[in-house]
Amino acid sequence: MIDVAATAQVIAIDVGGTLTKAARIDSSGVAQSLVVVPTPVSSGADAILELAVSLAKSLATPDVIGVGVVVPGIVDSSRGVARYSANLGWRDWPLRSLLEERLPYRVSLGHDVAAAGETEMRTGDGIDNGLVVVIGTGIASVTVLDGEIVRGAQGMAGELGHVVVRENGALCRCGNRGCLEAYASTGALPLRFRDLGGGDADAETIVRDLESDPIAHEVWNQAVDCLATALAMVISVLDPGKIVIAGGLSLAGDTLVTPLMSSLGNKLVWRSAPPVELSHYRQHAGVVGAAMQFYRSVGHSNFSAWTPGLKG
Ligand SMILES: [Zn+2]
Repeated sequence: MIDVAATAQVIAIDVGGTLTKAARIDSSGVAQSLVVVPTPVSSGADAILELAVSLAKSLATPDVIGVGVVVPGIVDSSRGVARYSANLGWRDWPLRSLLEERLPYRVSLGHDVAAAGETEMRTGDGIDNGLVVVIGTGIASVTVLDGEIVRGAQGMAGELGHVVVRENGALCRCGNRGCLEAYASTGALPLRFRDLGGGDADAETIVRDLESDPIAHEVWNQAVDCLATALAMVISVLDPGKIVIAGGLSLAGDTLVTPLMSSLGNKLVWRSAPPVELSHYRQHAGVVGAAMQFYRSVGHSNFSAWTPGLKG
Protein backbone atom coordinates (compact mmCIF):
# COMPACT_ATOMS: atom_id res chain seq x y z
CA MET A 1 0.00 0.00 0.00
CA ILE A 2 1.13 3.54 -0.70
CA ASP A 3 -0.42 6.79 0.46
CA VAL A 4 -2.54 8.41 -2.20
CA ALA A 5 -2.17 12.18 -2.01
CA ALA A 6 -5.06 14.42 -3.05
CA THR A 7 -2.90 15.59 -5.96
CA ALA A 8 -2.12 12.04 -7.12
CA GLN A 9 -2.84 11.08 -10.69
CA VAL A 10 -2.93 7.76 -12.51
CA ILE A 11 -2.29 7.22 -16.19
CA ALA A 12 -5.20 5.12 -17.45
CA ILE A 13 -5.00 3.22 -20.74
CA ASP A 14 -7.89 1.29 -22.31
CA VAL A 15 -6.66 -0.84 -25.22
CA GLY A 16 -9.70 -1.46 -27.41
CA GLY A 17 -10.23 -3.63 -30.48
CA THR A 18 -10.32 -0.48 -32.66
CA LEU A 19 -9.30 2.52 -30.54
CA THR A 20 -7.00 2.97 -27.58
CA LYS A 21 -7.90 5.65 -25.03
CA ALA A 22 -5.58 7.14 -22.46
CA ALA A 23 -5.87 9.91 -19.88
CA ARG A 24 -4.49 11.07 -16.55
CA ILE A 25 -7.17 10.62 -13.91
CA ASP A 26 -6.85 12.13 -10.43
CA SER A 27 -8.00 10.57 -7.16
CA SER A 28 -11.35 12.41 -7.48
CA GLY A 29 -12.04 10.84 -10.87
CA VAL A 30 -11.32 13.95 -12.94
CA ALA A 31 -9.66 13.19 -16.28
CA GLN A 32 -7.03 15.30 -18.04
CA SER A 33 -5.44 15.10 -21.47
CA LEU A 34 -7.70 12.39 -22.92
CA VAL A 35 -6.01 10.89 -25.99
CA VAL A 36 -7.79 8.57 -28.45
CA VAL A 37 -5.67 6.80 -31.09
CA PRO A 38 -6.18 3.80 -33.37
CA THR A 39 -5.04 0.47 -31.90
CA PRO A 40 -2.37 -0.99 -34.24
CA VAL A 41 -4.38 -4.21 -34.50
CA SER A 42 -2.65 -5.67 -37.56
CA SER A 43 0.86 -4.95 -36.23
CA GLY A 44 0.66 -7.40 -33.34
CA ALA A 45 1.18 -7.35 -29.59
CA ASP A 46 4.63 -5.67 -29.69
CA ALA A 47 3.18 -2.64 -31.47
CA ILE A 48 0.46 -2.39 -28.84
CA LEU A 49 3.09 -2.56 -26.09
CA GLU A 50 5.04 0.24 -27.81
CA LEU A 51 1.87 2.32 -28.05
CA ALA A 52 1.07 1.86 -24.35
CA VAL A 53 4.63 2.83 -23.39
CA SER A 54 4.61 5.96 -25.55
CA LEU A 55 1.16 7.02 -24.30
CA ALA A 56 2.29 6.58 -20.68
CA LYS A 57 5.46 8.61 -21.30
CA SER A 58 3.52 11.38 -23.04
CA LEU A 59 1.08 11.66 -20.12
CA ALA A 60 3.70 11.53 -17.34
CA THR A 61 3.82 14.30 -14.73
CA PRO A 62 5.47 14.45 -11.27
CA ASP A 63 2.08 13.68 -9.66
CA VAL A 64 1.63 10.37 -11.49
CA ILE A 65 1.79 7.41 -9.09
CA GLY A 66 1.16 4.57 -11.52
CA VAL A 67 -0.42 3.21 -14.67
CA GLY A 68 -3.71 1.32 -14.92
CA VAL A 69 -4.12 -0.66 -18.14
CA VAL A 70 -7.18 -2.59 -19.28
CA VAL A 71 -7.39 -4.92 -22.27
CA PRO A 72 -10.13 -7.09 -23.82
CA GLY A 73 -10.33 -10.87 -23.85
CA ILE A 74 -9.41 -13.05 -20.89
CA VAL A 75 -7.13 -11.42 -18.32
CA ASP A 76 -5.38 -12.79 -15.23
CA SER A 77 -5.18 -9.59 -13.20
CA SER A 78 -3.39 -11.12 -10.23
CA ARG A 79 -0.50 -12.36 -12.44
CA GLY A 80 -0.68 -9.37 -14.75
CA VAL A 81 -1.11 -11.58 -17.82
CA ALA A 82 -3.33 -10.94 -20.84
CA ARG A 83 -4.29 -14.57 -21.43
CA TYR A 84 -6.24 -14.43 -24.68
CA SER A 85 -7.85 -11.99 -27.06
CA ALA A 86 -9.71 -13.18 -30.18
CA ASN A 87 -9.71 -9.65 -31.63
CA LEU A 88 -6.11 -8.64 -30.81
CA GLY A 89 -4.47 -12.02 -31.21
CA TRP A 90 -2.36 -12.52 -28.08
CA ARG A 91 -2.01 -15.51 -25.79
CA ASP A 92 -0.43 -15.57 -22.30
CA TRP A 93 1.18 -12.15 -22.74
CA PRO A 94 2.85 -10.85 -19.52
CA LEU A 95 1.87 -7.27 -20.27
CA ARG A 96 2.15 -5.91 -16.73
CA SER A 97 5.79 -6.93 -16.26
CA LEU A 98 6.67 -5.82 -19.80
CA LEU A 99 5.29 -2.36 -19.01
CA GLU A 100 6.95 -2.20 -15.59
CA GLU A 101 10.31 -2.98 -17.25
CA ARG A 102 9.83 -0.05 -19.60
CA LEU A 103 8.22 2.53 -17.30
CA PRO A 104 9.23 4.01 -13.92
CA TYR A 105 5.81 3.13 -12.46
CA ARG A 106 3.81 0.35 -10.90
CA VAL A 107 1.28 -1.00 -13.36
CA SER A 108 -2.06 -2.73 -12.81
CA LEU A 109 -3.56 -4.87 -15.56
CA GLY A 110 -7.28 -5.54 -15.76
CA HIS A 111 -10.11 -6.52 -18.05
CA ASP A 112 -11.71 -3.66 -19.98
CA VAL A 113 -15.29 -4.72 -19.43
CA ALA A 114 -14.78 -5.62 -15.77
CA ALA A 115 -13.28 -2.14 -15.34
CA ALA A 116 -16.26 -0.54 -17.06
CA GLY A 117 -18.60 -2.54 -14.85
CA GLU A 118 -16.73 -1.46 -11.77
CA THR A 119 -17.01 2.18 -12.84
CA GLU A 120 -20.77 1.85 -13.17
CA MET A 121 -21.03 -0.05 -9.90
CA ARG A 122 -19.03 2.39 -7.78
CA THR A 123 -20.14 5.79 -9.12
CA GLY A 124 -23.44 7.69 -9.15
CA ASP A 125 -26.48 5.63 -8.17
CA GLY A 126 -24.27 2.55 -8.45
CA ILE A 127 -25.49 -0.96 -9.20
CA ASP A 128 -26.40 -3.57 -6.62
CA ASN A 129 -28.09 -6.00 -8.99
CA GLY A 130 -27.64 -5.37 -12.67
CA LEU A 131 -25.87 -5.97 -15.91
CA VAL A 132 -23.38 -3.68 -17.65
CA VAL A 133 -23.08 -4.50 -21.33
CA VAL A 134 -20.15 -2.99 -23.21
CA ILE A 135 -20.70 -2.96 -26.96
CA GLY A 136 -17.75 -1.94 -29.08
CA THR A 137 -15.68 -3.96 -31.55
CA GLY A 138 -16.73 -6.91 -29.40
CA ILE A 139 -19.45 -7.42 -26.81
CA ALA A 140 -19.03 -8.45 -23.19
CA SER A 141 -20.90 -7.89 -19.96
CA VAL A 142 -20.43 -7.60 -16.24
CA THR A 143 -23.04 -9.02 -13.89
CA VAL A 144 -23.37 -7.46 -10.45
CA LEU A 145 -25.34 -9.64 -8.01
CA ASP A 146 -26.04 -8.37 -4.50
CA GLY A 147 -23.21 -5.83 -4.78
CA GLU A 148 -20.57 -8.27 -6.04
CA ILE A 149 -19.16 -8.69 -9.54
CA VAL A 150 -19.71 -12.26 -10.75
CA ARG A 151 -16.40 -13.66 -12.05
CA GLY A 152 -17.16 -17.36 -12.51
CA ALA A 153 -15.09 -20.47 -11.87
CA GLN A 154 -12.38 -19.50 -14.39
CA GLY A 155 -12.88 -15.72 -14.32
CA MET A 156 -14.57 -16.00 -17.70
CA ALA A 157 -18.10 -14.89 -16.80
CA GLY A 158 -19.69 -12.24 -18.96
CA GLU A 159 -18.97 -13.39 -22.52
CA LEU A 160 -22.41 -12.24 -23.62
CA GLY A 161 -21.04 -11.62 -27.11
CA HIS A 162 -20.65 -15.35 -27.67
CA VAL A 163 -24.17 -16.35 -26.72
CA VAL A 164 -25.61 -17.96 -29.88
CA VAL A 165 -28.66 -16.00 -31.02
CA ARG A 166 -28.98 -17.36 -34.59
CA GLU A 167 -28.66 -21.11 -35.28
CA ASN A 168 -26.11 -21.61 -38.13
CA GLY A 169 -25.84 -17.83 -38.36
CA ALA A 170 -23.01 -15.47 -39.28
CA LEU A 171 -19.45 -16.61 -38.56
CA CYS A 172 -18.02 -15.09 -35.38
CA ARG A 173 -14.33 -14.33 -34.82
CA CYS A 174 -14.35 -16.94 -32.03
CA GLY A 175 -14.96 -19.66 -34.64
CA ASN A 176 -18.58 -20.33 -33.75
CA ARG A 177 -21.62 -19.28 -35.79
CA GLY A 178 -24.53 -17.07 -34.84
CA CYS A 179 -22.94 -15.34 -31.83
CA LEU A 180 -24.45 -12.05 -30.67
CA GLU A 181 -21.10 -10.36 -31.41
CA ALA A 182 -21.42 -11.34 -35.10
CA TYR A 183 -24.62 -9.25 -35.34
CA ALA A 184 -24.66 -6.41 -32.83
CA SER A 185 -21.05 -5.23 -32.28
CA THR A 186 -19.64 -2.15 -34.00
CA GLY A 187 -17.23 -4.60 -35.64
CA ALA A 188 -20.10 -6.70 -37.06
CA LEU A 189 -22.40 -3.98 -38.37
CA PRO A 190 -20.15 -3.12 -41.38
CA LEU A 191 -19.76 -6.84 -42.22
CA ARG A 192 -23.52 -7.45 -42.10
CA PHE A 193 -24.10 -4.31 -44.18
CA ARG A 194 -21.68 -5.54 -46.85
CA ASP A 195 -23.13 -9.08 -46.80
CA LEU A 196 -26.58 -7.67 -47.51
CA GLY A 197 -25.25 -5.69 -50.49
CA GLY A 198 -24.84 -2.30 -48.84
CA GLY A 199 -21.15 -1.83 -49.71
CA ASP A 200 -18.59 -0.28 -47.37
CA ALA A 201 -19.80 1.75 -44.38
CA ASP A 202 -18.69 2.05 -40.76
CA ALA A 203 -21.02 1.49 -37.80
CA GLU A 204 -21.51 5.22 -37.28
CA THR A 205 -22.67 5.71 -40.89
CA ILE A 206 -25.04 2.75 -40.67
CA VAL A 207 -26.66 4.19 -37.53
CA ARG A 208 -26.86 7.65 -39.13
CA ASP A 209 -28.51 6.34 -42.32
CA LEU A 210 -30.91 3.80 -40.93
CA GLU A 211 -34.00 5.92 -41.66
CA SER A 212 -33.03 6.52 -45.29
CA ASP A 213 -31.18 3.31 -46.22
CA PRO A 214 -33.24 0.08 -46.15
CA ILE A 215 -30.13 -2.11 -45.84
CA ALA A 216 -28.87 -0.08 -42.87
CA HIS A 217 -32.37 -0.39 -41.39
CA GLU A 218 -32.34 -4.17 -41.82
CA VAL A 219 -28.85 -4.52 -40.32
CA TRP A 220 -29.86 -2.39 -37.34
CA ASN A 221 -33.14 -4.27 -36.78
CA GLN A 222 -31.22 -7.57 -36.77
CA ALA A 223 -28.67 -6.16 -34.31
CA VAL A 224 -31.36 -4.92 -31.92
CA ASP A 225 -33.34 -8.17 -32.20
CA CYS A 226 -30.24 -10.28 -31.49
CA LEU A 227 -29.29 -8.08 -28.53
CA ALA A 228 -32.82 -8.36 -27.13
CA THR A 229 -32.74 -12.17 -27.55
CA ALA A 230 -29.51 -12.44 -25.55
CA LEU A 231 -30.63 -9.96 -22.89
CA ALA A 232 -34.02 -11.67 -22.48
CA MET A 233 -32.17 -14.89 -21.57
CA VAL A 234 -30.02 -13.08 -19.01
CA ILE A 235 -33.03 -11.26 -17.55
CA SER A 236 -34.93 -14.52 -17.15
CA VAL A 237 -32.01 -16.20 -15.38
CA LEU A 238 -30.60 -13.38 -13.24
CA ASP A 239 -33.43 -10.84 -12.74
CA PRO A 240 -31.16 -7.76 -12.96
CA GLY A 241 -32.50 -4.49 -11.54
CA LYS A 242 -31.21 -2.55 -14.52
CA ILE A 243 -29.15 -2.92 -17.66
CA VAL A 244 -26.53 -0.30 -18.48
CA ILE A 245 -25.17 -0.05 -22.03
CA ALA A 246 -21.64 1.33 -22.44
CA GLY A 247 -19.06 1.27 -25.22
CA GLY A 248 -19.04 2.78 -28.69
CA LEU A 249 -22.52 1.59 -29.67
CA SER A 250 -24.01 3.49 -26.69
CA LEU A 251 -23.35 6.66 -28.72
CA ALA A 252 -26.42 5.63 -30.77
CA GLY A 253 -28.48 6.74 -27.74
CA ASP A 254 -32.27 6.45 -28.02
CA THR A 255 -31.87 4.98 -31.51
CA LEU A 256 -30.65 1.90 -29.64
CA VAL A 257 -32.54 2.05 -26.34
CA THR A 258 -36.07 2.69 -27.66
CA PRO A 259 -36.31 -0.31 -30.05
CA LEU A 260 -34.34 -2.47 -27.62
CA MET A 261 -36.85 -1.83 -24.81
CA SER A 262 -39.71 -2.53 -27.20
CA SER A 263 -38.17 -5.80 -28.40
CA LEU A 264 -37.39 -6.89 -24.84
CA GLY A 265 -41.01 -6.21 -23.88
CA ASN A 266 -42.21 -8.46 -26.72
CA LYS A 267 -39.78 -11.28 -25.93
CA LEU A 268 -40.32 -11.40 -22.18
CA VAL A 269 -44.13 -11.69 -22.50
CA TRP A 270 -45.01 -12.60 -18.92
CA ARG A 271 -42.67 -10.32 -17.01
CA SER A 272 -41.56 -6.73 -17.39
CA ALA A 273 -38.06 -5.81 -18.54
CA PRO A 274 -35.79 -3.90 -16.18
CA PRO A 275 -34.89 -0.36 -17.28
CA VAL A 276 -32.19 -0.09 -19.95
CA GLU A 277 -29.95 2.93 -19.41
CA LEU A 278 -27.00 4.41 -21.25
CA SER A 279 -23.74 4.67 -19.34
CA HIS A 280 -22.96 8.23 -18.27
CA TYR A 281 -19.41 7.43 -19.39
CA ARG A 282 -20.52 6.02 -22.78
CA GLN A 283 -17.33 4.77 -24.52
CA HIS A 284 -15.07 6.02 -21.68
CA ALA A 285 -16.23 3.68 -18.89
CA GLY A 286 -13.21 1.44 -19.49
CA VAL A 287 -10.53 4.12 -19.25
CA VAL A 288 -12.07 5.50 -16.02
CA GLY A 289 -12.25 1.93 -14.70
CA ALA A 290 -8.56 1.39 -15.55
CA ALA A 291 -7.68 4.26 -13.20
CA MET A 292 -10.11 3.02 -10.56
CA GLN A 293 -8.52 -0.43 -10.62
CA PHE A 294 -5.05 1.05 -10.14
CA TYR A 295 -6.22 3.17 -7.19
CA ARG A 296 -7.82 0.10 -5.61
CA SER A 297 -4.59 -1.87 -6.14
CA VAL A 298 -2.77 0.61 -3.88
CA GLY A 299 -5.48 0.63 -1.24
CA HIS A 300 -7.45 3.73 -2.26
CA SER A 301 -11.06 2.61 -2.31
CA ASN A 302 -13.13 5.69 -1.56
CA PHE A 303 -14.76 6.69 -4.84
CA SER A 304 -17.60 8.79 -3.39
CA ALA A 305 -16.22 11.90 -5.13
CA TRP A 306 -16.26 10.20 -8.54
CA THR A 307 -19.42 11.63 -10.09
CA PRO A 308 -20.64 9.84 -13.24
CA GLY A 309 -19.44 11.01 -16.62
CA LEU A 310 -15.96 11.75 -17.92
CA LYS A 311 -14.94 15.00 -16.20
CA GLY A 312 -12.10 17.20 -17.23
ZN1 LIG B 1 -18.41 -15.90 -30.88
